[in-house]
Amino acid sequence: MENNLTPLSLNDTFKFSCSKKVSCFNECCRDLNQFLFPYDILRMKNRLGLSSNLFLERYTSQHTGPETGLPIITFKTDPFRELKCPFVARSGCSIYEDRPSSCRTYPLVRMASRSRETGTIAEQYFLLKEPHCLGFKNGHIWTVREWIEDQKIFVYNQMNDLMMEIISLKNRLIPGSLDIKSRLMFHMACYDLDNFRSHIFDKKILDDRDIDSGTLGAVKNDDVELLKLGFQWIKDTLFGEI
Ligand code: SF4
Ligand code: SF4
Repeated sequence: MENNLTPLSLNDTFKFSCSKKVSCFNECCRDLNQFLFPYDILRMKNRLGLSSNLFLERYTSQHTGPETGLPIITFKTDPFRELKCPFVARSGCSIYEDRPSSCRTYPLVRMASRSRETGTIAEQYFLLKEPHCLGFKNGHIWTVREWIEDQKIFVYNQMNDLMMEIISLKNRLIPGSLDIKSRLMFHMACYDLDNFRSHIFDKKILDDRDIDSGTLGAVKNDDVELLKLGFQWIKDTLFGEI
């Protein structure tokens, strides 16, 4: 795959169009092994009106990274249906407005890294040309910047970068596998948001923390604020003052 990746700056252009008319329509939604970020899960479970727990159970496979001990969430694919995405329909993606970040970004791939010294995120985009994708043939000309805007990727990048900060801190400060308690905490605060909310308000797990009433009020109904609080909780609990 690496040979098909061409680095692009934000102002570089590429030619691409995807529509229901292409003969490869839906080809990119099979044979999946797609890592899902916490914000991807948040958007999809809300779109379907499901609790996070039910969404995870129905539509995802969950593993533990052998070296990091961190949860890895991917789409549950059907081996008898060419490992198709559970949301691909004849007419295309059935959750299009809330599809995950990697689907939105394609045919670009975003790689981000965080500076240890300053904490700033550096991003690099690549153009991924896969043989099955015919979208490059007669496409519209896009700059990378235009594509990010058109596909509404920015908010996903912002949320994914918060997650990446946690992963990079974990790898630096707690190398190797996580203990089970930390792993469960990580899973709940990042992916199982409705369960996290009920732990906050019913089981009072954050009552010993100095959390202001404005934040608590916001997370009651706002999943994005809840996820941000979850990231902060993981940082404070696992890494302490950093
Ligand atoms: S393979 Fe490429 S052109 Fe075909 S449907 Fe997927 S993104 Fe569109
Ligand atoms: S979420 Fe939608 S775009 Fe992404 S792989 Fe599934 S069907 Fe395709």
